[in-house]
Formats: sequence, structure tokens, C-alpha cells
Amino acid sequence: MEKVILLRYGEIYLKGKNRKYFEDVLIKNAFERIKEYGVKIEKIAGRFVVTNVDENQDIIVEKLKKVFGLISVSIAYVMETNLEKIKDFCKTISLDGSFKVETARADKSFPIKSIEFSAIIGEIILNNNQNLKVDLHNPKHIVDIDIRENGKTYVSFEKIKCLGGMPVSTSGKGILMLSGGIDSPVAGYLMAKRGLEINCVYFHSHPYTSEQAKQKVVDLAKVVSEYSGKIKLFVVPFTEIQERIHFNCDSEFTITIMRRFMYKIAEMIGKQNGCSCLITGENLAQVASQTVQGITCSNSVIEQMPVFRPLISFDKNEIIEIARNIGTFEISNLPYQDCCTVFVPKKPIIKPKIADCIKQESKIDDIEELIEKAISNAECIEI
Ligand code: ATP
Ligand code: MG
Repeated sequence: MEKVILLRYGEIYLKGKNRKYFEDVLIKNAFERIKEYGVKIEKIAGRFVVTNVDENQDIIVEKLKKVFGLISVSIAYVMETNLEKIKDFCKTISLDGSFKVETARADKSFPIKSIEFSAIIGEIILNNNQNLKVDLHNPKHIVDIDIRENGKTYVSFEKIKCLGGMPVSTSGKGILMLSGGIDSPVAGYLMAKRGLEINCVYFHSHPYTSEQAKQKVVDLAKVVSEYSGKIKLFVVPFTEIQERIHFNCDSEFTITIMRRFMYKIAEMIGKQNGCSCLITGENLAQVASQTVQGITCSNSVIEQMPVFRPLISFDKNEIIEIARNIGTFEISNLPYQDCCTVFVPKKPIIKPKIADCIKQESKIDDIEELIEKAISNAECIEI
């Protein structure tokens, strides 16, 4: 009996006339992740089917579990929709403990209704397995019989939960400010989950921050890309800007001014690369610069893009839980210093005003040039 992987998707069902577009992007994204295993992927009504899975099924399932837009996958046995053939297959099923059968009959030309058919198949399985019991409420096994409209029936024993969300790129592209911390990779993951393709910008203050700090960001981007697909990471040399801020501005303002530079540069790089929104890992009240007033001051340098801060209301524990689940926590937790910690003032301003920021910035010469230089010297790493 041929083994395949059956892919189910959720929310894009709601897309009406645009459904085909969402399905096409999803199937392309899924294929992209697993094509190296020599598989084929086929669209049938309401499902995708991966064939040619051979001995790689477990690793393929692991990859598919990270494709946004899928709600579940199952390893399934496929057969012609023919009463005797289905019965014959079900006679070979070996189970222990308790079970129930669930039938979905998308193909209404199949003459037996779902509930009735589940009972017929249930009896066959019961007769062929000693000590097996039926349990409709809390069964150990669910035998899923999916009678599709393509004349085929798929029998599976486990629905493996996927992440849901929207297929990456159906919402466009965003530029993520990615640091080596815990928050920003999680923020990128969450926005990719809503269909954004991700580019990243990292501000690197060599030699204040080490090569290892940069490598950490590259490694984090790699983990995020397991979910979001290909990432362009821009590493922006930030040392000169940080030094100029440090030597010219009042120390309590340095973090706020630095953020404003980061935002400005991120927006510009984003624009040059087709991004239509900015993403940060900011979180209300987490640190002095992330007060409403602090965020107002950094936000005000943005000209055209919305800034998404998916973590704004999360507690740190909640962020850490996601970071652990997606596999970024261990990397984020490495000790290498990030640029923000190099020039930390003793007493950063908690409620800065935009006018004061502008006054502080007027003490730095040739800001436009500084920014242009940083952008033109940025290194682009394809991940
Ligand atoms: P994270 O918030 O990712 O844990 P962090 O705590 O070092 O890192 P914060 O000081 O909280 O960073 O900064 C808030 C946000 O600003 C980050 O989530 C990130 O989006 C952005 N950011 C901070 N430092 C950098 C940097 N060096 N390069 C790019 N973005 C940065
Ligand atoms: Mg943070």
C-alpha cells in the first residue's frame, strides 16, 4: 500500500476568491522545504499530498511542521475509493488499547454515510484485534478515513499538529530589527506566522561587539529561516554612529538617540529591499527605553512604514517559552555582548520628548552622511 503524507490547511479556507493564490503559495513554500528529499507534491481538493516519501517520512514531517499555513499533517495509506479495497486494507490494521474510527466523506458519490461507514470499519478492526476496545470519547488511536473527491481514500492514524498561520509572503515582506537577544527572533517568527517574508537588519559595533556576537545573530536568523524561508540579513556597521552619539549627546539620551538611528536606517534598508513594514522585539516597560514616551521618540523618525511590535504586551516568561519552542532560546542565551550594552548610560531617560531628541541630534554633524555611509557599508548575508 502506498504511503503518502497528507497536508491540511486552515485559515486560507476563508479567502474566497483569493483562495487559489493562498493555496499556490502554501504548496510552493511546503515544496521548497522538502524538495531535497526527491518528493512530489500534489494539490487535491482541500488537501495537499506528498508522494515519494520513502524512508524520509519522519524528517519530512519535521520540516512540514514548520511551514506556516498548515494545520496538521498525517502519514497516510492511499487506496482507490472502493468499498472492498478499503475493507481489505482495514483488515490488516493492528492496534492495541482503545480506538475509534472517524470518516470524512468529501466524495458524496461514495454511497455510505460517514457515521455508518465508521461503524462498518470499526467492526472490521475490532474483529481482527483481540483485546481492543472502542472508546468514542478518549481513544488511544483514531483511525481517520478521508474519502476525497479524486477517487482516492486516505487512511491515517495520527494527526500531527502544525503551526497554523498564513503562508509566508502572502502578507508581503517586513524588515526585522534582529539583535542577539531573546525577543527579536521571537518577534520575527510571530510576524512570519502571519504571512510576512522576513529580511533582517543587525547593527554591529565592531570592535565593541565581537565577531561571536555577529555569528550569534547569523545563527538566530538561520533558526528563524527554518520557519520564514530565505532571509536577507543586513549587518550594518554601527560603531561610528554610536561613538558620535556617545561623545556628543548627553548620556541619559544616548540609548534613545541610538534607537532613532537604528529605526531610520532599518526603514531605509527595508525600503530598498521591498519591505513594507518594520518589526521589532520591543516590549512595553521591559527597559527604560521601552516606555510609551521612549517608543514615541523612536517611532517618530519612521516616515512611511507601520512598525509591528508583536511582543509589546508579553511577559518575559511568555517570550522565553516561545523562544524555547522555536529553538532560538539557547542561542540567544549565549553571553556575547550586544551593541546596546556597550555604551549603556548610568541613568537613561525614561520619559524622553521628541523635541529634546532633535536638540540632542543637532549636536551631531553630518547625520545624513553618517547614515548613508553605514547603509552603503552594510554587509548582506543570504540565509
Ligand atoms: P531582544 O529585545 O531581542 O531580546 P535586546 O533586549 O538586546 O534584544 P532591546 O534593548 O530590548 O534589545 O531592544 C529592543 C529591540 O530593538 C530589539 O528587540 C530589536 O528589535 C531592536 N534592537 C536592539 N538592538 C539591536 C541591534 N544591535 N541590531 C538590530 N536591532 C536591535
Ligand atoms: Mg528586549
